[in-house]
Amino acid sequence: AQNERESLLIVLNYAKNYFQNNLFKHEEGQSIGYPYFKERGFSDKTINTFELGYSLEGWDAFTKEALKNGYSLDILAKAGLTILKENEQTANPNAQKSFDRFRNRVTFPIHNVAGKVIAFGARILKADKSQAKYLNSPETEVYHKSNVLYGIFQAKNAIRTQDVCYLVEGYTDVISLHQAGIENVVASSGTSLTTEQIRLIGRFTQNITVLYDGDSAGIKASLRGMDMILEEGLNVKLVVFPEGEDPDSYVQKIGSDAFVKHIEDHAADFITFKAELSLKEAGSDPFKRAELIKDMVGSISKIPDSIKRSVFFQKTANLMQIDEQLLISESNKVSIERA
Ligand code: ATP
Ligand code: MN
Ligand code: MN
Ligand code: MN
Repeated sequence: AQNERESLLIVLNYAKNYFQNNLFKHEEGQSIGYPYFKERGFSDKTINTFELGYSLEGWDAFTKEALKNGYSLDILAKAGLTILKENEQTANPNAQKSFDRFRNRVTFPIHNVAGKVIAFGARILKADKSQAKYLNSPETEVYHKSNVLYGIFQAKNAIRTQDVCYLVEGYTDVISLHQAGIENVVASSGTSLTTEQIRLIGRFTQNITVLYDGDSAGIKASLRGMDMILEEGLNVKLVVFPEGEDPDSYVQKIGSDAFVKHIEDHAADFITFKAELSLKEAGSDPFKRAELIKDMVGSISKIPDSIKRSVFFQKTANLMQIDEQLLISESNKVSIERA
């Protein structure tokens, strides 16, 4: 299977070059693909750094070209690039009609930590309710999406030197921040955050700042991600963006200096984040306050390190004006219930 992995990486790299060539050299890429990226504010340098490309209209432009270049249908299908279709007219297994998975989309290669292309994300150019906005490669022998972070190859050095990783939702968030000089950023693209992804970040830093979209889905996902990060023993902070903004739209709107300042001013540790989120709603209602406190204790209980736990108990006690010992004994109850 080592051989097959190698073959898959080779054909995926071929596809990456092919899509890039479409973007820069093919008239269709020049007339629709390239202008799409320009309208989104991406420079040529950025397009090259992320090896962005374009997949042609029609059914099988890529597959035909790849076959002509000696790649087999079998390997194209295993790489997730070509979809095989049994020909219903005949029982002959060689008479298959195959077509390109990615058609009429801009392409975002997904790299592993070493920089090899292992999959693609691809976006439609215009809003179209009949099609998924983003289409991703299926799981293959070289692509297990729960183990992968988009942008990790381009971000890893910056994550190490800055000693913090910004976690965003989408491809374009990674790309726009990188272009703005904020390079320590990765996305969990196409899946909700996994333990494997958190451990991958943990190879480069113990500090994660979650920068999810400023909508209710983004906030929900932030809360879920936060507990998982705590459980893995990493430190987590969270930033909320104004309603309707994501890191891409916001950095393009306010510029990189103001964006960095927004993060500095608004990055809250998880206790402050939870408190700010629900205190307004809970107000002085004692039952709601009690629920919130239990929720905070639940998150703190996930932290493996006892000294860190203790710091957050103190903080919660101050913030919620409640006896610290009470919080600790509540937390012991939680862990006994879990055991
Ligand atoms: P854009 O700015 O290009 O509209 P986005 O990244 O802001 O895209 P979101 O709707 O915020 O898009 O979604 C965040 C991420 O979730 C996307 O980057 C993509 O990885 C994934 N995603 C979104 N829509 C789909 C979809 N229909 N199918 C699969 N993955 C999707
Ligand atoms: Mn969103
Ligand atoms: Mn966006
Ligand atoms: Mn978004």
